[in-house]
Amino acid sequence: MNFDAIVIGGGPAGATAAAVLAEKGRRVVLLEREKFPRYHIGESLMPYCYFPLERLGLADAMKSSHFPKKYSVQFVNTSGKVSQPFYFFQHLQHDASTTWQVVRSEFDAMILDKARANGAEIREETTARELIWENGAVAGVRTENAGEFRAPITIDATGRDALAVTRNGWKVRDPYLNKIAIWTYYRGAARDEGLDEGATTVAYLPERGWFWYIPLPDNIISVGIVAEKEYLYRDTRDPAEIFEREIGANPWIQEHLAPGQQFGRYWVTGEYSYRSQHCAADGLILAGDAFAFLDPVFSSGVFLALRSGELAGEAADRALAAGDFTAAQFAPYGEQLRTGLEAMRKLVYAFYDKEFSFRDFLMANPALKGDLTDCLIGNLFRDFDPLFGALKDFATLPAPLAHGTPLLAAQLTER
Ligand SMILES: Cc1cc2nc3c(=O)[nH]c(=O)nc-3n(C[C@H](O)[C@H](O)[C@H](O)COP(=O)(O)OP(=O)(O)OC[C@H]3O[C@@H](n4cnc5c(N)ncnc54)[C@H](O)[C@@H]3O)c2cc1C
Repeated sequence: MNFDAIVIGGGPAGATAAAVLAEKGRRVVLLEREKFPRYHIGESLMPYCYFPLERLGLADAMKSSHFPKKYSVQFVNTSGKVSQPFYFFQHLQHDASTTWQVVRSEFDAMILDKARANGAEIREETTARELIWENGAVAGVRTENAGEFRAPITIDATGRDALAVTRNGWKVRDPYLNKIAIWTYYRGAARDEGLDEGATTVAYLPERGWFWYIPLPDNIISVGIVAEKEYLYRDTRDPAEIFEREIGANPWIQEHLAPGQQFGRYWVTGEYSYRSQHCAADGLILAGDAFAFLDPVFSSGVFLALRSGELAGEAADRALAAGDFTAAQFAPYGEQLRTGLEAMRKLVYAFYDKEFSFRDFLMANPALKGDLTDCLIGNLFRDFDPLFGALKDFATLPAPLAHGTPLLAAQLTER
């Protein structure tokens, strides 16, 4: 079966890429392993999600949805004391300053439906087994259960399964951000009032860990812990026991969960932050978590998935127009993503630095509040040299990870 483009994975990255390509009149097929709607973690959006969603024609659907509106993020220290909420509208006078807490099964299905409505062929319950390489270029995809699909360009948006990364040994691990997450759901737990009802709360744990507390529709709260494995598994490996134990470590979490009832399973994930050595090869582009995954403390994942899906769709369209699918032309795509990811990664490192406080940093550098806020709301693709120049005196920041360049044909021959 021949197409202009193949997209693997129907999450926010893949569905956005397919919607963009189909909107441009390209013959695109999207292969998705699951039947939608399907469960997914990653429920808290950041303000700049608005722009790719608007581009897809979905801003109004979001505004009229039942997803709780998120106007702010607040931080709670280990004694249970809440910081002044950080309201996005204080920095950004735009509709984008209101964002949402989403039920991912519904949110992801909405974007996939958009891709379908734009003309993309959506093949659910179709698992990609491997990329088809011919003469050093990706020429299509071999599936488990539906034969082969061929196209001059393939976008890998397989999320944390990261098909191209795992099959080709391209994974670059983050030396420090090796956390695990355990999460579950509560019905009837407390919500703050008024503007803060839909806020994301990040509540600190003593050992460089944190809880997320995310209000969802139907009186449900998503609540999870992110911390070092050694800390969480110190006396048991049972996720329910660990969860119960850690609830007691933060009074705010304890009080808010007290009126609620836990339901469903406890989820666990490891293999935290990583990148792909390459953003592209001949005939291949990587997008979303299939390219890079960063600790979710600032809710950047869905935004980076939407934005990289959009950029990958555009890059694939340009390649189709030029009839040139060589990796080199995807270098600017990789560079842009890398810049945004590295900025966010530095903030994540600062967050985990025990000596660091955003408040102290801003007291000493009030002029940088705008830059810091831009980073936190997703206005990531700009120059942050002044911000990180000053931040390095307050927190230990990481050296950039070597990743994200295209795999050039010459490198392939060398291997
Ligand atoms: C614990 C945790 C908490 C998080 N919290 C947040 C948060 O609050 N806010 C936020 O923005 N982000 C959060 N994230 C990150 C967020 O979940 C991801 O960044 C986002 O889902 C990435 O979207 P994607 O489209 O790249 O991948 P996904 O949404 O994972 O989609 C990939 C799709 O590919 C399909 N697939 C995989 N392999 C194949 C195959 N071989 N063939 C066909 N289909 C395949 C899968 O079924 C899936 O539907 C969190 C992540 C974790 C782990």
